[in-house]
Amino acid sequence: MGNPNDSQMHSIDNREFAIFWRCMVSVLAIVVALPTSAIAADDRLPIFDTHVHYSSQAWTVYDADAVFKKLDAAGVDRALVSSTPDDGTLILRRRDVRRVVPVLRPYHGDLHAGNWYRSPEIVAYLEGRLKNGFYRGIGEFHLFDDDDARTPTMRRVAALAVAHNIALHVHSGAGPIAALFDVEPNLKILWAHAGMVEPADVVANMLDRYARLTAEVAFRAGDIAPGGKLGPSWRRLFIRHTDRFMIGTDTYINDRWDVYGSLINEHRNWLDQLPRETAEAIAFGNADRVFGAEATSQ
Ligand SMILES: [Zn+2]
Repeated sequence: MGNPNDSQMHSIDNREFAIFWRCMVSVLAIVVALPTSAIAADDRLPIFDTHVHYSSQAWTVYDADAVFKKLDAAGVDRALVSSTPDDGTLILRRRDVRRVVPVLRPYHGDLHAGNWYRSPEIVAYLEGRLKNGFYRGIGEFHLFDDDDARTPTMRRVAALAVAHNIALHVHSGAGPIAALFDVEPNLKILWAHAGMVEPADVVANMLDRYARLTAEVAFRAGDIAPGGKLGPSWRRLFIRHTDRFMIGTDTYINDRWDVYGSLINEHRNWLDQLPRETAEAIAFGNADRVFGAEATSQ
């Protein structure tokens, strides 16, 4: 027979132990639950979106907070941003100098896609803004035929890019890209939309021919993965030139900001059908290597 006090003591011990254990189980559940949700969020490939515009018509609809919320929700860690006018890029950059990598767009006032490359004033405008020192490129701009790449203005802009060791972000077919490299072989060019309508074999030939050419695939998810399934010619191209492709969305009008998350998801869909290493390079690594390293807190 034990002392009655002993059994009382034991029952208190047991009760305390039960309470203690229930607490531990709750804590364990939280500890287990937290990393699970964190892993679920991190499981998405981080994206470096190399074709973002924050142009004036967006400013009153999506303020900078709203833009960063959209990037966060889509898992976009960094963005190459150019805007009409350039002030839009500066608004976003002021908020986060690491995430926003600025590219200087020539378009402003009366200068637009159809006339900028013949404008004599544009060079002084670009030179003035490049003094900021933080731009990683000039663009995105349009060239419509080979002669547009050989105007006196375009030649001076190409020389400016080489002198500053920054890229040109060019929206054109294969012809003007070849003409630009002819004018200035030391250029670095990011080919917007991989030529927009150029088929995979033309893109492949261009990347084979020009070592300093990279391409982003804004607007191309439907060509790359018709019906959601990664096409064989694009798969071969991504494997062959893994280090040359980047993701882009092209938020040139507010409608594109409206559906920003789904534009990123279209790309995630075909990225998921590539080997992980290839997908990581295209989703983030290539853009970070080419454009990200020298982003500073200037
Ligand atoms: Zn664009």
